[in-house]
Amino acid sequence: MNTYAIIVLVALVGEYVLSVVSGLLNVGAMRPTVPAEFEGVFDTERYARSQAYTRVRTRFGLVQATVSLLALLAFWQLGGFGWLDARCRGLGWGPVPTGLLFVGALTLGSSLLGLPFRIYSTFVIEERFGFNRTTVGTFATDLLKSLVLGAVLGGGLVAATLFFFGWAGPLAWVWCWVATSVVVLIAQFVAPTWIMPLFNRFEPLEDGDLRTALLDYARTVRFPLTGIFVVDGSRRSAKANAFFTGFGSRKRIGLFDTLIAQQTTPELVAVVAHEVGHYKRGHILKRLWLQLGHSAALFWLLSLFLERQGLFDAFGVDTPSVHAGLVFFGLLLTPIDLALSLVLNRLSRRYEFEADAFAAETTGGAGPMISALKKLSAESLSNLTPHPLHVWLHHSHPPVLERLAALRAAPSRSG
Ligand SMILES: [Zn+2]
Repeated sequence: MNTYAIIVLVALVGEYVLSVVSGLLNVGAMRPTVPAEFEGVFDTERYARSQAYTRVRTRFGLVQATVSLLALLAFWQLGGFGWLDARCRGLGWGPVPTGLLFVGALTLGSSLLGLPFRIYSTFVIEERFGFNRTTVGTFATDLLKSLVLGAVLGGGLVAATLFFFGWAGPLAWVWCWVATSVVVLIAQFVAPTWIMPLFNRFEPLEDGDLRTALLDYARTVRFPLTGIFVVDGSRRSAKANAFFTGFGSRKRIGLFDTLIAQQTTPELVAVVAHEVGHYKRGHILKRLWLQLGHSAALFWLLSLFLERQGLFDAFGVDTPSVHAGLVFFGLLLTPIDLALSLVLNRLSRRYEFEADAFAAETTGGAGPMISALKKLSAESLSNLTPHPLHVWLHHSHPPVLERLAALRAAPSRSG
């Protein structure tokens, strides 16, 4: 075992142990009584059900994490990487097709390993708690579509990376970064019109009270709300959601039909105001810059490690290559990725507070946002009392009680 192997092993096991500990602490942090803020929103039965849901989801997550870790360690220790690399090279293809085959086989293998878990999660757990609306047909076509989409987008980017590192010399990482950035930027523009409609139907919101209220609101904050769409989220799940996509004239607000069924007009205006808040406070652009900066750093680091024979030795591959280097570098990044995700989650939680505050300020008070959040938590059986370690590691949104407290504490213009 060389240094690289030890770093990867310690990082993988460390990450696993952290998630086990945080899962157990999270379950241990649940209390039998409904928090005062939620009396009347959660009855005892619903509260017990939300805790059962957290428990079942935690157990499921731990089983999945254990199986994934063991599968990876077994594949690695039994010489799987070296064997696969030799098989791919044995075909005598050029570096790019060989690399695509290597990366593609590993990706497909890990998707196949994850498939039983996806099936169990959708058709057993979500079903049991009354969330599942996905038919077997929808599940299968979703799977197929995401495979094709992943092969086209992911395959294209991997092929470009293999090509540049093979031919572009010391500045290859810059070319890779430019190519990735172009794809990311184009995806921002085409996602709302080309990619998302592959999975959901987007119907323009019909004329009526809700549409009038949303447009009136948008005018007061000078937000050019051209597209308000109803998304058929109910095809897959009873869970509700709202989101914002696109830039410039392609800006769209998507409201799940499940959300519209659940919330009153003022609550829906507050939810949209929250999404507008993300835009107005610059969160969407900041996230995009971070993503571009992150990929520049990754490609530069990758260029440094592609030359290290030790990295290939650690995984039992004799001949260094860009394709194997790409995969092993990904594993070597485990600790850095973990650290980075802590920072990004923390930032995301701060953005949520800012967007909530924006909604309260611009809708004439915190009331509608508070009741919207309460309903969302009750309907999705949210865990109201997550353990701080769990929040720190995994949550992109602050615990709902903290959001409610911040909304109540914030001064608002007219309420
Ligand atoms: Zn948000």
